[in-house]
Amino acid sequence: MTSVVLPGDPIGSLIGDRRVTASSGGLHAHVYPATGLPNATVALAGAAEVDAAVSAAWEAHREWVAHPADRRRDMLVGLADVVHEHLDELAGLNVHDYAVPISNAGTALLLERFLRHFAGYADKPHGTSSPVSGSFDVNIIEREPYGVVGVIAPWNGALAVAASCVAPALAAGNAVVFKPSELAPLAALRFGELCLVAGLPPGLVNILPAASDGGDALVRHPGIRKIHFTGGGTTARAVLRAATDNLTPVVTELGGKSANIIFPDADLGRAAALAAHQGPLMQSGQSCACASRILVHESVYDAFTEQFLAVIGAARVGDPFDPEVNFGPVISAGSLDRLLNVVHRAVEERAGELLVGGERLVDGALAGGFYMQPTVFGGVDNRSRLAQVETFGPVVSLIRFVDDDEAVRLANDTPYGLNAFVHTADLTRAHTVSRQLEAGSVWVNQFSQISPQGPYGGYKQSGSGRTGGLDGLHEFQQIKNIRIGMG
Ligand code: NAD
Repeated sequence: MTSVVLPGDPIGSLIGDRRVTASSGGLHAHVYPATGLPNATVALAGAAEVDAAVSAAWEAHREWVAHPADRRRDMLVGLADVVHEHLDELAGLNVHDYAVPISNAGTALLLERFLRHFAGYADKPHGTSSPVSGSFDVNIIEREPYGVVGVIAPWNGALAVAASCVAPALAAGNAVVFKPSELAPLAALRFGELCLVAGLPPGLVNILPAASDGGDALVRHPGIRKIHFTGGGTTARAVLRAATDNLTPVVTELGGKSANIIFPDADLGRAAALAAHQGPLMQSGQSCACASRILVHESVYDAFTEQFLAVIGAARVGDPFDPEVNFGPVISAGSLDRLLNVVHRAVEERAGELLVGGERLVDGALAGGFYMQPTVFGGVDNRSRLAQVETFGPVVSLIRFVDDDEAVRLANDTPYGLNAFVHTADLTRAHTVSRQLEAGSVWVNQFSQISPQGPYGGYKQSGSGRTGGLDGLHEFQQIKNIRIGMG
């Protein structure tokens, strides 16, 4: 099992063009989940570092908007080129961050794609003009940057959030204070350094690994004009409460309990493979997009289940740096305990029948790591806690339905609304059902594939706002109306 002690210990914040290792947020021992061994000490940002970063960001923002828009576009394209040259390094740091298998560590490429896409917006029109009633005045509607925005990322997606938030924020003319989780700060810090390598003004992108108190200080800072938060619902509630002090606007990208609907006319082999990837296997189910409720039509339930379990049985578990491995550990010992408890309670509450998994994996090289068997419950009651609460681990439910109406009703019957998946060969059914689903994204006959052009975000308790596309750009712009009297 690959395990290294990372150089540069302790790893601190990037503020302006300085790595700051003195830190008011205390120290955090970063543990590599595949071995359970500490591999770095992280100096956590607190209120003092947040304050320094916000000042650096305002200075950089002024320098950034002093460049003509096409120059900013070119600099963002230059950053995309630098990221491209470091894709392997960033992917490797992603693995060190949270032991995501390298076969699944594609978010560095996503970052490059988002940077290229949003660079193109930098010099495009950011507003409109319009006539006004009863007058010949000039009426301009401009979209301006907020100035300095705070971006808070979960441990499972620092580079994905850098892609979906930092790229549009910069294209809109903002500077960013970016807070990765203390559990996974490495790839984000390297991205911050690459912004300097690409020649962006120091302070335009500051990276502050921090725990909850550092995050709270960022949300409450009066110099932060908008917060973009990605994480869980409980933390989102704390962030929204803290933001009321300064009435700072907040965008939230939260969790899910996504349904994957398998209709009888689906290509069952393909649907089973995609359901396994999108369910317990991808990032060991630790993904906001995890389809943890698989709704299967009763006529194909047995055939689908057989193929689904076969794909899961063939999962390659092991060293996350091995390109053949597609199933890794969960993030921490605490998370592993929580997940084993979810299984235990689901059995106790008779939520469904435990078909496979449910135990810690302790064979050979896996013994020290936080590995759990991919776990599947069959015949699950959609009202059970197992089917209603985000699992955030490799534990999924198979649920039967009898007709399209029941499939839609079950899919919508959760507090969440992030993603939904539909497998069918019938185009009319695909359209009809997609329109009825309460979800920000519906993926038909495919798995979730975030793109710079596709707005992503939640309905209901899965969040507000969108990342990606023009909607994602608009989250980082405020609107000004300028009216010039014409006499
Ligand atoms: P989390 O809510 O525990 O933490 C998210 C971030 O908030 C971390 O950086 C954390 O340090 C910070 N934080 C904690 N307390 C804070 C506070 N009081 N003020 C400000 N910041 C604070 O989530 P997590 O465990 O890191 O990530 C898992 C969750 O994220 C899951 O619910 C998952 O579904 C969700 N997620 C959503 C998306 C999406 O795009 N919708 C993407 C990835 C993950």
